Formats: sequence, C-alpha cells, structure tokens
Amino acid sequence: MKYLLPCSQCGAQHEVVRTQAGEKLSCSCGAELEIPSFRDFQHLKPASGAAASVAARRPINDLPRRLVLVAGMLLIALGLVVGSYGGLLRTGIYVPERQPSRDPEIDAAIDDLSPTDAFELWTSYRDQGLGPYQVPYRYMAEWTRQFYTRFLQVGLGMLGLGIVLVGVTLCWPTERKTPART
Ligand SMILES: [Zn+2]
Repeated sequence: MKYLLPCSQCGAQHEVVRTQAGEKLSCSCGAELEIPSFRDFQHLKPASGAAASVAARRPINDLPRRLVLVAGMLLIALGLVVGSYGGLLRTGIYVPERQPSRDPEIDAAIDDLSPTDAFELWTSYRDQGLGPYQVPYRYMAEWTRQFYTRFLQVGLGMLGLGIVLVGVTLCWPTERKTPART
C-alpha cells in the first residue's frame, strides 16, 4: 500500500511505502524529506485512499441478507409458538401406567365362580353384549401425547433453523471488502 508524503517546501506529493520508513527522499525542488517511521505512517494519507474509501462505502446488494434475516426471524417466532403449543399441551396429558394384560384378581374371581354363576354371567353377556367398542383411554392419551410431541419437535427444529439463519445474516458482509490497511 502506498502513502502520500507531501514535500514541506513545495507541497509535491511523493508516493512512499512502509518499507521506506526512516529513509530520506530528495524532492525535485531540492528539499530533503524524511520518510516517517513505520508507526507514523498511519498519519499519512493513503495514495489510493480516495478510491478505496469510495469502494468501501458502496454497499453490496443487501436484499438476500434481508430475506434470510426475515425468514430466520419468522422461523424463530413460528418455532416458539408451535413448540410451546406442543410442549404445554403435551405436559397436560396424563398417560396411565401400562396395565398387565391379565389382572390376577379378576382371574381369581373367575376361578372362584360356581358353574351356575359362570353360566349366568355368560348369559348376561350374551344377552346384553359387551357394549359398544371404546378406544382405551391409555391408547388415546399416548397417541395425543405423541401428536403434541411432534409439535414440540417441529417447533424446536424451526427455532434452531431460525437462529442459524439469523446468525448467518450477522456474519454477512454488508460492504465490499476494503483493502487491508497496514
Ligand atoms: Zn519539494
């Protein structure tokens, strides 16, 4: 990177680089100029400074970044709503412990029935039937809880994806890369 060193006598601009720090330079007017130390180069005006800063200020197309940002924030909002909906409803569902398929007490009671009692029980079931089929509560509760668990998982997924998208927009360059100033 080149810097401009003005002559203290005639004002002519001389292009200098940092490797020349501390050296002397003769101007065409006859004046002897001392090139500043490496550290003092920061006070000099960069030779391509005007052009470089104009390029730096020209923004690149910002639309993709904004779209990703909006999508990410929408996903975060939706994920929070869907996830908390599923999560809250899920915790409100009571799923009873799984019952043994055969109840030993009922088995014992059946064993204790006299033949006539057993016959009467059988005829009553034959006449009245077992009633309409009912979906067991436990099965319904399990199914519903799984249903809301899906909501929770989908919501968490959307939340995570949204956070990633917003994070991407934070690292997104908003300006053209400026030449490294050394
Ligand atoms: Zn001069």
